[in-house]
Amino acid sequence: MTSEGSKQVDILIAGAGFAGLSLAIALRQALGGSLRVIVADPALERGGSDPRASAIVAAARRLFEAIDVWERIAPGAQPILDMAVTDSRLDDAMRPTFLTFDGEVEVSRGAGGVHLPASEPFAHMIENGPLLAALLAKAKDDGVALAETAVADSEMVADHIKVRLRDGTSCAARLLVAADGARSSIRERAGIATHGWGYGQASIVTTVRHERDHNRRAEEHFLPAGPFAILPLKRDATGHRSSIVWTEEAREAERIVALDDAGFHAELEKRFGLHLGEIAAVGPRRAFPLGLSVARAFVAERIALVGDAAHVIHPIAGQGLNMGLKDVAALAETIVDAMRIGLDPGSPVTLERYQRWRRFDTMAMGVATDGLNRLFSNRSDALRVVRDVGLGLVDRLPALKQLFIREAAGLVGEVPKLLKGEAL
Ligand SMILES: Cc1cc2nc3c(=O)[nH]c(=O)nc-3n(C[C@H](O)[C@H](O)[C@H](O)COP(=O)(O)OP(=O)(O)OC[C@H]3O[C@@H](n4cnc5c(N)ncnc54)[C@H](O)[C@@H]3O)c2cc1C
Repeated sequence: MTSEGSKQVDILIAGAGFAGLSLAIALRQALGGSLRVIVADPALERGGSDPRASAIVAAARRLFEAIDVWERIAPGAQPILDMAVTDSRLDDAMRPTFLTFDGEVEVSRGAGGVHLPASEPFAHMIENGPLLAALLAKAKDDGVALAETAVADSEMVADHIKVRLRDGTSCAARLLVAADGARSSIRERAGIATHGWGYGQASIVTTVRHERDHNRRAEEHFLPAGPFAILPLKRDATGHRSSIVWTEEAREAERIVALDDAGFHAELEKRFGLHLGEIAAVGPRRAFPLGLSVARAFVAERIALVGDAAHVIHPIAGQGLNMGLKDVAALAETIVDAMRIGLDPGSPVTLERYQRWRRFDTMAMGVATDGLNRLFSNRSDALRVVRDVGLGLVDRLPALKQLFIREAAGLVGEVPKLLKGEAL
């Protein structure tokens, strides 16, 4: 292949999911119209088919504020102000609460700490469909070039990477960003292996309407097959709603999803309970297989991985997308810093800075979510006693609880500017 006849761009982003679109918007805002950036995705308008909602932590919300997307999603965003954790068997009559968080992040003025207003919710629940639609609309408004096609393959040519698209066109880019999801073909073709394993579990996701208000409380019930999370959504014309992420062994999840409505309702009610009054599953339901996978490298020659292309973790702590947005914030800052002083955004020095910034943090979160899942998704009564003592202790130690909240809110460690709400 040669580069003749190729369109010249600075950055080609493969994948118009949360990670790819957020990165394109951030770069365009910081570097202006002179930056040549294209986002290619064969499924540009796919948002409506995703039944999930995501817990967007405080740091990720700041990124959306910084790139002027938050105002578009805020009306549909449900703050989480309280969280309850229980640990029981499925048929236990009572589910004692071992841990409660009231979800406000305290002010921190310590060295390297993030400066916050007096208090703010540590997370908001946002439905994936509207979030993706808002990002796509903002990218279009900002003049990001969008191509409804897939990246087919790429090849290094002198000082750029030549990327061939499925529609038969090609681009000569200084950097190719793989934001093409968990089964990233760019990562595979670059020869980057992944560490990880499947959990033999799947999460059933659907929306549940309930009679009573959730009072902005999220619940996580640790049951022997896996966590059952009830996550508050914004009330709509149909009434009070929550999103559920219900983890089961994979075959059992497939069986439950395939039940008729009455059968599904019976299984749901066993786990959800009646504390919010009568319940009804509304909207589509789907089971997502779960696994852990972390790329051995986040960069290759003129290639950077972000989002699920770089890491997939268990949704037990609702952190996957939030980690992807940390990648976006770190990569955007790295690229902008380099390009402002005339450096090449795809040079080894630029990419190594990004990789150093993100790899350790990602491994730590992968290990933490893997450990949590192993600790909680099992049928051992002895282990249940041990972990309940642990949960009870955390509940009684406000400093430790604050640390957990700040960690979950994404406000610990070397925080990139966008996650602090600062412009690049
Ligand atoms: C049940 C469940 C619940 C979850 N809950 C949460 C939560 O509460 N909070 C949270 O932070 N995270 C959560 N996650 C994780 C989160 O959903 C993912 O981390 C996030 O969707 C990944 O976004 P992404 O942009 O990296 O990839 P994706 O959303 O997978 O986007 C990849 C895009 O790339 C495109 N693409 C693929 N191949 C190509 C190609 N060759 N060329 C061009 N484009 C291509 C695809 O069409 C797609 O649009 C959850 C995950 C699961 C399974």
